[in-house]
Amino acid sequence: MSDLWWLVLLLFGLAIALLLLSMRERRKSGLPQAQVVYADTDLWQRVPETLVDHQLGLVGKPDYVMKTRQGSLIPVEVKTGHTPDAPYDSHKLQLMAYGLLIRSNYAQTPAYGLLHYPDKDFRVDFTPDLEAQLTETLEEMRQIESKKVVPARSHNSSARCRSCGYRGVCDQKII
Ligand code: SF4
Repeated sequence: MSDLWWLVLLLFGLAIALLLLSMRERRKSGLPQAQVVYADTDLWQRVPETLVDHQLGLVGKPDYVMKTRQGSLIPVEVKTGHTPDAPYDSHKLQLMAYGLLIRSNYAQTPAYGLLHYPDKDFRVDFTPDLEAQLTETLEEMRQIESKKVVPARSHNSSARCRSCGYRGVCDQKII
């Protein structure tokens, strides 16, 4: 067999391996297939690099970005732990932030994002209201940071504290 054929076979094998790997990643995430296709290669893909918006002071990386058949990019965030009846506000704001990061990094504005909890998926529309809430929250965070004062806990939910990434350092957590 000629070298060219070996090369073709090698590339074919590599493509199959990548396809299987990507399918395994998707199965692990449990993400839905409906109405979406994957970026470029029709596969679910993780975002290769952290997205940055210097103007908004945002840095982040959604778990996945999907491309719809119409070419729109959709951020997807996977959440573990308890599945709520409705998505938490903080998760919606996080997803909205990814929407803005996609807008500034890929020059297109996603209409919505997906929050994937263990037992249910939620579509979160990126409304002007949600964007305004995020802008307000970011401003509050900047003010808190500049004053170096830790704000008082704004809820009484032990479930929220249990799934919070700051519980290890937070002295207001509910056990
Ligand atoms: S652990 Fe602290 S920061 Fe996290 S939700 Fe509870 S009170 Fe808020």
